[in-house]
Amino acid sequence: MVKFLRSSKDVKTVLVEKTDRLYRNFKDYVLLEDFALEMHLVKEGEVISKNSKSHTKFIHGIKVLMAKNYIDNLSEETKKGMQAKAEQGLWPSNAPFGYKNVDKRIEPDGEEAPIVRQLFQWYGTGNYSLNQVHALYKKTYPLNPIARSYIERILKNPVYYGDFLWAGRLYKGLHLPLVSKRQWDTVQEVFKKANKPKITKRNFPFTGMLTCAFCGCAITASIKKGRYIYYHCTGSRGPCQRPFTRQEVLEEKFGEVIKGIVIPDSVVGWLVKALQEGQKGKVAHQEAILRKVRAECESINPKIDALLEDRLQGKIPEDLCYQKINQLRSRQASLKEQIELYEKTEQNTNLDKASRLIELANKAYYLYLRQDAHKKATLLKIVQWNSTWDGVSVCPTYRKPFDVIAQSVKSGDWLPSQDSNLEPSG
Ligand SMILES: [Zn+2]
Repeated sequence: MVKFLRSSKDVKTVLVEKTDRLYRNFKDYVLLEDFALEMHLVKEGEVISKNSKSHTKFIHGIKVLMAKNYIDNLSEETKKGMQAKAEQGLWPSNAPFGYKNVDKRIEPDGEEAPIVRQLFQWYGTGNYSLNQVHALYKKTYPLNPIARSYIERILKNPVYYGDFLWAGRLYKGLHLPLVSKRQWDTVQEVFKKANKPKITKRNFPFTGMLTCAFCGCAITASIKKGRYIYYHCTGSRGPCQRPFTRQEVLEEKFGEVIKGIVIPDSVVGWLVKALQEGQKGKVAHQEAILRKVRAECESINPKIDALLEDRLQGKIPEDLCYQKINQLRSRQASLKEQIELYEKTEQNTNLDKASRLIELANKAYYLYLRQDAHKKATLLKIVQWNSTWDGVSVCPTYRKPFDVIAQSVKSGDWLPSQDSNLEPSG
């Protein structure tokens, strides 16, 4: 669809059954917004466009967060499933570079596996720096560009000798290794030698989050008088006003960024209610499907009995009978799997998550003030991805859906117009 939209600039409207049919992941949401389309979510009775009211956009943003694939990635259920897979020695997720997903396993990919081996071979000689390996790679495989940092990650990934890291633990894999453990160890040795100990710098929490408002350079940090952390422009594009700012001041200024997404108490209840309304239809729909699947599943055993009866009475040949039974059994297994899946994904979990997100946004500033600088930076990285700093104030670029919250906070435009059915009661 995206391809079609790119080539058909005159298309301005898209009809979609409902939110979770539109986005396979969060990236799609961001991508589609760039097209400035009018999206009609038919079953939800909602139209989303650039001109939508901010509360509509916000609810939409939350629905996207709740949409199946995105939430699946976050949900504990999935994590548990992946954990179980990892314990069986099966790579739990999308195949890493060099492998492809085949059924529940990963297998060496015909094109990528030789590349991985080549990378290990190059770097393992110890004759090349990572930069040089990257250059060799670009020369050898000009059609498949990858970043230097990506090569580094490949070379440090134990998956290629047969183990794999999952959720902080190393598991013994069942997949085919691409390199030997010895070769992998050699490469790690080369890394150790290459990374001669640097002058130990303190870890500055707010670097990489700010650009200078005057010249667009990154804001970096240094230690003054041995104990104060100062942030300032790198000035790498020539002379700059280069404001120097103490970390404590920056922490306070960043607080304003967090304040910008605090959903007021008066709105929290209303938002949660609006989300619950939206969820009702979905639950009913899923329950209808579940009933259908259950009915079909239950109808299979009598069918098998009937076949065996026919077989006994000599009405059908033996091989045909068992062939049919096998078909029915495998259909039954797949139906059972579906039922299990439905039962696992409790609808309310998603709703809880959305409610928690709203509550988090409601308490964000309170939480922010109580955290140390590193945790503050973590929270900030969740809600914004780049901000500018002019020495006086931080001007944030919020991530989705916090951008919409920020807009609403600024304009006070939370409540829907009179004609909407999402009006809070009382
Ligand atoms: Zn500057």
